[in-house]
Amino acid sequence: MTIRGVDLDVSGRTRGRSCPERTCVGCRKRAAKHDLLRVTAVEGVCVPDPRGTLPGRGAHLHPEPGCLDLALRRRAFLRAFRLQGTLDTAALERYVGALPVAGHP
Ligand SMILES: [Zn+2]
Repeated sequence: MTIRGVDLDVSGRTRGRSCPERTCVGCRKRAAKHDLLRVTAVEGVCVPDPRGTLPGRGAHLHPEPGCLDLALRRRAFLRAFRLQGTLDTAALERYVGALPVAGHP
């Protein structure tokens, strides 16, 4: 079953700007969409979607280990994807871990 037509953005704010904002599922701060990494779930596996081209529900995350850690601890991805059970996040963790972290060369 596919649940469509429900906006993931739970802020309730109207969006009139040309620069869309999303809430990071880790630190819960709002940021410009292009500063966040889109993550989606494909058959129970969390996959990074840097180009935003994959279908399905997406969650947005600062591509930083700290935010990923927070998101994993509060099971934010399961909630964002409206899933239950467990998600395989190994690929996402590898992806984020391989990115250069700002301020920590
Ligand atoms: Zn964040």
